[in-house]
Amino acid sequence: APEGLTRMSVSDVSVSIRDRLPAAARGLSIVVPLLNEAPGLTLLHERLSTLADRLKERYGIACEAIYVDDGSTDETLTVARDLPAAKLDVQVVSLSRNFGKEAALMAGLDHARFGAVLFMDGDGQHSPDLAEELVRHWIEGGYDVVYTAKAHRQNESMLRRLAVHNFYSLVNWGARQKIPEDAGDFRLLSPRAAKALRMMPERNRFFKGLTSWIGFRQKRIDYEPEPRAHGTTTFNARRLLGLSIEGITSFSVAPLRMASMLGMLIALLALLFGLSILWETFTTGKSVPGYPSVIVGMMTLGGVQLIVIGVLGEYIGKILSELKARPIYFVAEQTLRTANEATAPD
Ligand code: UDP
Ligand code: MG
Repeated sequence: APEGLTRMSVSDVSVSIRDRLPAAARGLSIVVPLLNEAPGLTLLHERLSTLADRLKERYGIACEAIYVDDGSTDETLTVARDLPAAKLDVQVVSLSRNFGKEAALMAGLDHARFGAVLFMDGDGQHSPDLAEELVRHWIEGGYDVVYTAKAHRQNESMLRRLAVHNFYSLVNWGARQKIPEDAGDFRLLSPRAAKALRMMPERNRFFKGLTSWIGFRQKRIDYEPEPRAHGTTTFNARRLLGLSIEGITSFSVAPLRMASMLGMLIALLALLFGLSILWETFTTGKSVPGYPSVIVGMMTLGGVQLIVIGVLGEYIGKILSELKARPIYFVAEQTLRTANEATAPD
């Protein structure tokens, strides 16, 4: 059997009841990736503390916040170190440099001490109140992946909406497990879903895709993101394009398949064209010089070939980085302060 299948025993995956029943005795790790979020961090921590309080009261579960400092150049790390561990445990994981949000999420996932994991942005766009609702769907509804999706994109440009739509149609083209359109990184994983996610061996990580790919019981929640507490988004058009190429090449071979189909189409057209020239020569007896058609044909084919070579290059680059098997991130500093002495994590 493939390695991935043998590594997880049947009892790990299929026992769902055990995961849910003692939810009261279990806890929740809240992973927050941070890149230069110092100005809003204290407020965010207060809101998370309130959330932890409410969760303890309602479901009796303990919480920890994992602040992953993704190579911030401002005071983020100093602020994080001093956050009070009163209502919830506080873990601060500082990466050795900026590795990108996906790597920061992975670091948080790896350091989570409790079973269930909640991913949440550190810029105030993901509301702790909504987080409580996600937890409710996990504990009361028994869902394994509770993800959020933007209710609408009215405040985004036409061009961006079009790009997003095309991206998802391409990724999902012929896919068995579709990645839901508009799904965000604000999501909750049950203990077994978090475990499954940790088993994914790839280095190039596209979390939205991975959490959908693992399956289990998934629940979608539509929401309206809050405005950023301060500063501006770190995802400009170039980084988004990069993330899209990342998502497509790690989740789909659609571009390769399209390249082959395009090649076949062009070959077919060429065949028809050649036949029609032959026909014309035999019936009318004259051959045409045809300079323009040669140039146009050459340029079209040249362009198509370059695009296809570029697509191949993307996949080869991906193979190279998986082959090198480098660690996804390095931790420069890690601290843990506990508030939940009573509830030891499993
Ligand atoms: N972030 C990170 N590393 C990066 C870029 C972003 O940890 O290289 C964090 C950032 O601090 C924030 C979250 O990822 O908590 C989302 O980033 P941002 O708000 O810039 O993205 P958007 O909300 O526009 O998708
Ligand atoms: Mg944001």
